[in-house]
Amino acid sequence: MLPNTDIEVRKSRIQGRGVFALRDFTPGETVLVWDTSYILTDDEYARLPEDQRHFVVRFKGEWLYMQEPARYVNHSCEANTVARDGTDVAVAPIHAGDEITSDYRSEMPSGERMKCLCGTKSCTGYIEGAAV
Ligand SMILES: [Zn+2]
Repeated sequence: MLPNTDIEVRKSRIQGRGVFALRDFTPGETVLVWDTSYILTDDEYARLPEDQRHFVVRFKGEWLYMQEPARYVNHSCEANTVARDGTDVAVAPIHAGDEITSDYRSEMPSGERMKCLCGTKSCTGYIEGAAV
């Protein structure tokens, strides 16, 4: 069991389900740890239904199929965490009750594109993957 005890998954105002802080986090703190054991082959990724593809990130040059709770972290153009070596690390002060957000662009596979619903001031309206 991964030590993701200070967060919970519930309905998000951004989209679908989201991940929320149950306590305050300071910048530099690890907020959640990914389960990195579900690596897909190129074939498995290619055969994945469209609605499952946004759960896949590029991780150390492989297709990582994200599991709960990390798969429910929504993208924000003003994200409060950054992905670092299979974890999400706070880059801004996070308060108990805040939604945990990540900037998908650095992990989302190159060629993938989706609409952004984050609603922040710096929102570009879409998310385009840049990871190879
Ligand atoms: Zn946005």
